[in-house]
Amino acid sequence: MKITALKTWIVPPRWLFLKIETDAGLSGWGEPVLEGHAATLAAAVQELEDFLIGQDPRRIEDIWQTIYRNGCYRGGPVLMSALAGIDMALWDIKGKELDTPVHALLGGPVRDRIRTYRWCGGDRPSDLIEGVRAVQAQGYTAAKFNICSELQIVDTHAKLDGIIQTLFDLREAVGSEMDLAFDFHGRVHAPMARVLLKELEPLRPIFVEDAVVSAMVETMADLARATSIPLCIGERLHSRYDFKRVFELRAAQVINPDTAHVGGISEMVRIGHWAEAYDVALAPHCPIGPIALAASLQVDAVCHNAFIQEQSIGIHYNAGADVLDYVEPGGIVVEDGHLLIPQGPGLGIEVDEAKVEEMARIGHRWRAPVWRHDDGSIAEW
Ligand SMILES: [Mg+2]
Repeated sequence: MKITALKTWIVPPRWLFLKIETDAGLSGWGEPVLEGHAATLAAAVQELEDFLIGQDPRRIEDIWQTIYRNGCYRGGPVLMSALAGIDMALWDIKGKELDTPVHALLGGPVRDRIRTYRWCGGDRPSDLIEGVRAVQAQGYTAAKFNICSELQIVDTHAKLDGIIQTLFDLREAVGSEMDLAFDFHGRVHAPMARVLLKELEPLRPIFVEDAVVSAMVETMADLARATSIPLCIGERLHSRYDFKRVFELRAAQVINPDTAHVGGISEMVRIGHWAEAYDVALAPHCPIGPIALAASLQVDAVCHNAFIQEQSIGIHYNAGADVLDYVEPGGIVVEDGHLLIPQGPGLGIEVDEAKVEEMARIGHRWRAPVWRHDDGSIAEW
């Protein structure tokens, strides 16, 4: 079997889809996107055509290693997201050729479904009580949200008080049955993170995500030693080599790599299994589209330490184009706050190519918002 073509579509709300075609009539889908950089990723995939056309798509590991190692420069968000989309599509092809789900090729599933959480409250958190109650009413048992908007490296007592009060009010309103994950989103710097983690301990969140921006692994390790709250890092790390320091420094108890940003299913499984040796839990990041979600679910199926899966159904970015709009019913199913592990061949979803074509005519130019502090300096989003 030989790869004959790579096709990409930039589709709303902020995604990039990839289809790899072969001379055997089989094709596979991937999602090689980096939020805010879809056109860059489309170009990165196109550059790899020169190598990929004519390759046997069944040699996934050799293709992975060649793309990773060849050309000197490696790692990082752009190259690893391009590789991720390609890796997903190759696994999809292999599964379809053998008429079996990808997880069956990775050792077989250890679970039938995985708990999932919903995002609430937008980029700047608002109406959290209403938002969390709404997802609770839909059967979800966990929700995640940003805990604050812009926060200075050292901010005011009043600002911190407001954040803390809002979260205590939320816990009181939704009760202890609902699990809450607090995303600091890299907006919080070390001086404020130290204070907030201590104050928020009584609320027992399932984790605090990116307590400081993820380049600060040493700072995260200091914070991890100072709090009982499980700390989570990983959405902005891009390979095993980035996670090495996290594990060695005991910087987190939960990791949330993104299948679409760490080189795909192949690398996610390796990171997930490696985390087991440190008793670190896996909570895959996935605020993007259905192909990335299906690929994540294949990983959740085989990683014993996976305990919760992010997904973006109904997130504020997805107005007018949501996760389930691009796939045939039955592939991605939420039931009782859980996502079912897809059982169809390959990634287990059927992409509606006509819909993809239609929506690509609309396309998108999604960009992260630009925020500034009161003094005019740029703020972390
Ligand atoms: Mg996050």
